[in-house]
Amino acid sequence: MKKTLVALAAVVLSGAAMAWPEKPITIVVPFAAGGPTDKVARDFAVAMQKNIPNSTVIVENVGGAGGTLGAGRVAKAAADGHTFLLHHIGMATSPALYRNLPYKTLDDFEYIGMINDVPMTLVGRTTLPANNYAELVKWLEANKGKINLANAGLGAASHLCGLLFQQAIKIDMTTIPYKGTGPAMTDLLGGQVDLMCDQTTNTTAQIAGGKVKAFAVTSSRRLSTPGLNNLPTLDESGLKGFNVGVWHGLYAPKGTPAPVLTRVNTALKAALKDPAFVGSMESLGAVIINDARNNPAEHKRFVEAEINKWGPVIKAAGQYAD
Ligand code: ASP
Repeated sequence: MKKTLVALAAVVLSGAAMAWPEKPITIVVPFAAGGPTDKVARDFAVAMQKNIPNSTVIVENVGGAGGTLGAGRVAKAAADGHTFLLHHIGMATSPALYRNLPYKTLDDFEYIGMINDVPMTLVGRTTLPANNYAELVKWLEANKGKINLANAGLGAASHLCGLLFQQAIKIDMTTIPYKGTGPAMTDLLGGQVDLMCDQTTNTTAQIAGGKVKAFAVTSSRRLSTPGLNNLPTLDESGLKGFNVGVWHGLYAPKGTPAPVLTRVNTALKAALKDPAFVGSMESLGAVIINDARNNPAEHKRFVEAEINKWGPVIKAAGQYAD
């Protein structure tokens, strides 16, 4: 009996292995194209495709509502192993921000593994008169009520960072939401908005090109990445304890067949060792997640811990959406 079951399981497994993928695999990015999560996803998709024979891996941008629209799309997608979600810290901040989230973060997804940690920077339009953080604080004090802060909507990392920044510095700003910080960056470059917190995967090139002014990193330690290593932390600049960063993980709709999840996790682990992917991420300040953390159990445990960490902070800030 036991032998029959084992044999049956082997047939099912090899059947799934042979039959999958049957069509292009889609990775949904819950933000607009041309932004930092999109950059991670597009580079990751190339590395993942190399590690799944006969596959085509495409990226679909489903931006809006701080990443919750795209996450909701994947929660309701067919669990046939062809739709995945690449999302960031918003997976853990949205449950506290939305009264009616269209999915259950811990129940409606299969957790596959984590991908990277990405630091954030505080950047501004080049026409701002301030040239460093101390001068920025003076400018903010002098311009209360007139400051625009771009973000990617309630639930986005830029929203969380901007919320914490306003609280820490005790100055309210007008937040301007976009479908992602890709389009927000376009407006920052054009001088239509004043400031933004954004991942280094979106800001590094703009900082290097002198297209935005960079005032600080939001991590607790300075970065070692060339081009970012001269930036002070907000913590050392007077906002003691300020520390916010982004992490990314890969998810599938609940019920996706286990053999497919195993193969995607194997492909994820291989992608995280792919020299092109690693090189691209490292040049943009991102840190690849190590093998101990890129498995489903650790991924889910981490997201739950992040929900518990950020929930009270967000609730204390009194930010909600329906
Ligand atoms: N950086 C965005 C955020 O604020 C997301 C994105 O556009 O990738 O979360």
